Amino acid sequence: MLKINSDLHTHTIASHGKGTMEANVRAAKNLGLKKIAITDHGPAHLFGIGIKNPQVLLDQKKEARALAKRWPQIQILVGAEANIISPEGELDLPEDILAQLDLVLVGLHPRVRPTSWGAAGDLILKNWLARFPRFQPQAMRANTQALICALDRYRVDFITHPGLHLRIDTLALAKAAEARGVALELSAGHGASREFVERVLETDVNLVISSDAHRPEDVGNFQKALALAEDFKIPKARILNADK
Ligand SMILES: [Zn+2]
Ligand SMILES: [Zn+2]
Repeated sequence: MLKINSDLHTHTIASHGKGTMEANVRAAKNLGLKKIAITDHGPAHLFGIGIKNPQVLLDQKKEARALAKRWPQIQILVGAEANIISPEGELDLPEDILAQLDLVLVGLHPRVRPTSWGAAGDLILKNWLARFPRFQPQAMRANTQALICALDRYRVDFITHPGLHLRIDTLALAKAAEARGVALELSAGHGASREFVERVLETDVNLVISSDAHRPEDVGNFQKALALAEDFKIPKARILNADK
C-alpha cells in the first residue's frame, strides 16, 4: 500500500487559496504528515491569482519559523509555484528570492503576464491558436521547450500538473526532466490523465504526488493520484514523497 508522507504543493490566501498558512500546516500536522510545503503562485499570475510581490515569500519563511516552534512534529517548507513568462523558460521570481526558497515548483498556466509582447506573441498566441487542431503541434512544441529551458536555467524541484491547461509533449518533457534530475508531479488535485502516466512510465523520471490544495481541507488529499499509481503499479521508489 502506497503511503504519501508529505504534501509539497499547497496554496494559501497569499495567492488564490482560501486558507491561511497556519490552517494548511495544522491540517497537515493533524493528518500526521512529515512535511508540508506552502507553494503559492508566482506574481505574474493575473487576476489576483499570484502573490502580490516576491517579498510575500520571505514573510512566509518568517511565519514558517514561528509555526515550527509551535509544531515541531512537522517540517514546514516555503517555496513557490513559479510561472514561465517567456519561451526561453524565464520564471516570474528573481534569482535572489528563488535561492532563499526551500523548494521551487514550476508550472505552465494560462493568464500569466509575459516578459514582453514578443514573448506574448510566441507563447500566448500559439496557445490561443491551439483551439484550432492544425496549430496544436506548434503550441505543444513551444510549451515543452519553454519548460525544458526553465529546467536548464534554474534549480527546479518538480514541474506541477504537466499538460493541464496547456498542451505539452509528455514523453519529451519526462525524458528531459529525468536527464536533469527533476521530478514531475502526479497531481491529485487536478487528477492526472492515464495517458500522462503511460508516457511517464516509458521513462525513469521520478514523481511527486501532491494535493495542490487551495483549501486547508484538501491538504493531504492524494486520492486521485493514489488510484492512478495503484492502477499502473508505479513502484514506490519512483515516488519521492512515498514511504519506502
Ligand atoms: Zn498550478
Ligand atoms: Zn498549484
